[in-house]
Amino acid sequence: MNMKECDLYKREKDRVRCLACAHKCLIEKENTGICGVRKNINNKLYLLVYGKVASMAVDPIEKKPLYNFLPKTKAFSIGTIGCNFRCANCQNFEISQVKEIIGEEITPEQIIENAIKTGCKSIAYTYNEPVIFAEFVKEVSILAKKNNLKNIWVTNGYMSKEAFDYMKGYIDAMNIDLKFFNEKTYLKICKARLQPVLETIKRAYKAGIHIELTTLLIPGLNDNEKELQKTAKFIASIDKKIPWHISRFFPMYKMLDKPITPISSLEKAYKIGKKHLKYVYIGNV
Ligand code: SF4
Repeated sequence: MNMKECDLYKREKDRVRCLACAHKCLIEKENTGICGVRKNINNKLYLLVYGKVASMAVDPIEKKPLYNFLPKTKAFSIGTIGCNFRCANCQNFEISQVKEIIGEEITPEQIIENAIKTGCKSIAYTYNEPVIFAEFVKEVSILAKKNNLKNIWVTNGYMSKEAFDYMKGYIDAMNIDLKFFNEKTYLKICKARLQPVLETIKRAYKAGIHIELTTLLIPGLNDNEKELQKTAKFIASIDKKIPWHISRFFPMYKMLDKPITPISSLEKAYKIGKKHLKYVYIGNV
């Protein structure tokens, strides 16, 4: 099995504290954190998916979605297994929620070589949450930069400040999910919190990273006018020019009880967004 000692952790007596995401898991010997890919072995934290890619494809950058960054180019996209969220509606649950460590072994050099060969202009860390395999992302990113390729994160935004500082300088663009504007819904649906996501958005903007945000509009959960207003106002308070993608929901994984988002709801959200923001896009239709 490919493993590498993590950089983002510290010892705490007979346990280790992972510093990669906002969960900051305190991990006992022989256990993994919530994401399932960072394991305490003899009080050292190891990344179990180092160089073990579970999903790899050449995608149009618009699929990330990023509309205002390197438009009409291709992104060499990779992801591993595991995730720090437990979203009931995860569209990649087959890799994100799997317990077994699976994937194809690949080196950073091979990833860059493939990206260049396929005419990609960027590497996208996507499909599952990149922060959980940050050490591998960083190695690929350093090499990407040397080869004039941009680095893109498609992320739930739950990275810690430590992870952000660790990656700073190696992220060119991010699509950050702003799933809900409600702490309770984040906790109920994703087993996570809203606040760290808002902090990542602000941090990334301040660091000069190109950011675009995505909200999947789920009927009965976040399609009410009040929440949409709050979301749009929050984005505008940072910068009116941050693109906001409003995406259509389809029943998925454990969330089969909600209907497909009606077009009228997407249009309502679009109108609210446009009152505050310059770039609003409807997606998944
Ligand atoms: S990345 Fe997050 S979920 Fe995974 S072990 Fe670290 S703190 Fe826990």
